[in-house]
Amino acid sequence: MPRQHVQRRQQLAERLRERDIGAALVTAGVNVRYLSGFTGSAGVLVVWADGSAEIATDSRYALQVAVECPDVAVQVTRGATVALAARIADHRVDVAGYEDRHLAVAGWRELVGVGHLIEWRPLESVVDGLRRVKDPGELELLREACAATDAALGEVLPRLRAGVTERQVARWLDDGLRDRSEGPGFATIVAAGTNGAIPHHQPTDRPLAAGDLVTMDFGARVGGYHADMTRTVAIGHSTGWQREIYDVVRDAQAKGVAALTPGAAASDVDAVARTVIDEAGFGDRFGHGLGHGVGLQIHEAPFLGATSADKVDASVPVTVEPGIYLPDQGGVRIEDTVVVHVDRVECLTTTTRDLLVVG
Ligand code: ZN
Ligand code: ZN
Repeated sequence: MPRQHVQRRQQLAERLRERDIGAALVTAGVNVRYLSGFTGSAGVLVVWADGSAEIATDSRYALQVAVECPDVAVQVTRGATVALAARIADHRVDVAGYEDRHLAVAGWRELVGVGHLIEWRPLESVVDGLRRVKDPGELELLREACAATDAALGEVLPRLRAGVTERQVARWLDDGLRDRSEGPGFATIVAAGTNGAIPHHQPTDRPLAAGDLVTMDFGARVGGYHADMTRTVAIGHSTGWQREIYDVVRDAQAKGVAALTPGAAASDVDAVARTVIDEAGFGDRFGHGLGHGVGLQIHEAPFLGATSADKVDASVPVTVEPGIYLPDQGGVRIEDTVVVHVDRVECLTTTTRDLLVVG
């Protein structure tokens, strides 16, 4: 979709002109992809203040870059960062931007070595900020990724029972994602019983047991775009404390989703859900933020948290994922990927949020 890439580079060029920056050296892989369409693992892009661009990559990607970036000048070289810094120096640009949040110190030294007459100015989150609001094509890829995620879980739910290990469940989920998408967008979490108290538990050979809560957090990737969903189910039966924390998390999640409106402060949305958990007496058992943006990265702006300065706008997809984690007992998390519209919130992941008792 070269037209979108041209538009995106024009938006960046506008930001550069506002800051009197003559060129931006883009080194973050996702940002190179966003602005050029190049999907290889090693590419660096320069965007000039008039919106034109040049990309450098190594010979492994020579054919691919020509196909993916028909409207961008290409250099095939082993030292992409240095080659493009030299181009910027050749153009006698006084001020150039670099991605301070996405460049190793060694890479920065290379830049300064080549372009010692250039004033290198940090771009901070200028390019990341462009990626926050999605266009219709990006939202469609997210819808596909979320549908694949729901379908993968639908296939696995009937297979959950006592005796199956966390690792086996993760494998089934991953296979289901691979059948329907580019595959898992991040390491699948399956946490049974007391492991559920660890928000990012990695699957082990622990078998599921009757009376366990099992938390599964996973998502498909389509066209580079990430779905993210968590469901917690009970094996065989559920007990009183389990249903209690489940109902609190479910209520917090619903209220958090309902609080998403264009222009809402991310910290306010977090507070709405957190208050539900606080008032139920579990405030100190919900340590992480309420959610995060999703797109070409699994975690990107805006971040929904108490100290976040971000805000939500129309066409911004985010996750809403409150949890309660009780050490030595277990945990519950419910997470959906949702997108905010002017007049409504669209839940892209749709698996039921009722407590399912399976096996
Ligand atoms: Zn997740
Ligand atoms: Zn998440």
